Amino acid sequence: MENNVNDISQYKDVWVFAEQRNGHISPVVVELLGEGRRIADETGSNLCAVVLGNNTGSVVDELARYGTDIVYSAESPLLENFTTDAYTKVITDAIREYKPEIVLYGATHVGRDLAPRIAARVNTGLTADCTKLEVDPTDKKLKQTRPAFGGNLMATIICPNHRPQMSTVRPGVMERAKRYETASANVVNIEISLTPSDIRTKVIEIVKSRLNLVSLGEAEVIVSGGKGLGNPEGFTMLRKLADTLGGVVGASRAAVDAGWIDHSHQVGQTGTTVKPRIYIACGISGAIQHLAGMSDSDIIIAVNKNPDAPIFNVADYGIVGDVNEVVPALTDAFAEF
Ligand code: FAD
Repeated sequence: MENNVNDISQYKDVWVFAEQRNGHISPVVVELLGEGRRIADETGSNLCAVVLGNNTGSVVDELARYGTDIVYSAESPLLENFTTDAYTKVITDAIREYKPEIVLYGATHVGRDLAPRIAARVNTGLTADCTKLEVDPTDKKLKQTRPAFGGNLMATIICPNHRPQMSTVRPGVMERAKRYETASANVVNIEISLTPSDIRTKVIEIVKSRLNLVSLGEAEVIVSGGKGLGNPEGFTMLRKLADTLGGVVGASRAAVDAGWIDHSHQVGQTGTTVKPRIYIACGISGAIQHLAGMSDSDIIIAVNKNPDAPIFNVADYGIVGDVNEVVPALTDAFAEF
């Protein structure tokens, strides 16, 4: 194996994989840069981003504005679109060459695809789907926390003998990095040895999803519905309330599993983690897996006909009543403002 388990002292700096498409960085990258900045400052390290693509100049500038010290950039027409083979090879080679102490990826489809492959190739561990990271400033060991056993407990994992320490991090849980209007970063061009024969897949066409996917992670107001809505039409009622408040509609897994609404609306452990200013839970019991995705919301309002429903334990405001009466009344009341 290439990694010498006894020689982890050569590894330094905090890397963030800067997932991008068409020159736009994914929102989770800004969260990883916020978290990476904190870890880099606590350990006296550089915060670095690694970006792959073709003509990524504007992305490099944007990464600098979010406080990145060094941007490692790999440019090639072969990296224009994400392919597992090409991205895995280039990042694996860069890790072997530059030896980062910590590498963070968003737990997106791309990050979840890439990170385990890279971990296996550089012979290190990976903690997937982290919700919290803490670092020991002296030995730079990263404590990586993630939900385990169906969200019933939080497991803290360390990678004692191998480097880099690698995590995928859930979108929506870390603080975003500050953005500066003017900033610059050192740019290191990664030398790549990539040929078309390294890539076993070919992108023929990129088709935009026909589904009207919601951006729960960025919404300021979310009106969520659960099994207590009783039927799919309940979501039409919620949509009116969400529209009145300029928000979007979320859902519990039970409502998604019932086929009442698309999975892209699901909030919780196996859905999206959200942190809106206002979260209104309608006919949702408050199972631990749902709470795992929304309990950090600024203000939680719960509507449930059962006064003992666990959702009331996390709610700032609780309304005991039937959603079919309370939700239209709230919509009418807010419409008057
Ligand atoms: P229920 O638990 O059935 O609650 C319905 C609520 O509606 C009740 O509290 C009831 O009092 C109330 N109600 C009924 N009628 C009315 C009415 N007319 N007016 C007002 N209130 C009414 N769940 C998630 O949400 N997100 C996840 O990501 C998720 N991931 C999971 C992962 C794993 C591994 C597992 C095992 C489970 C997961 N779950 C998840 C499922 C979770 O355990 C719960 O089953 C689910 O959240 C329950 O959804 P619910 O609150 O809509 O339904």
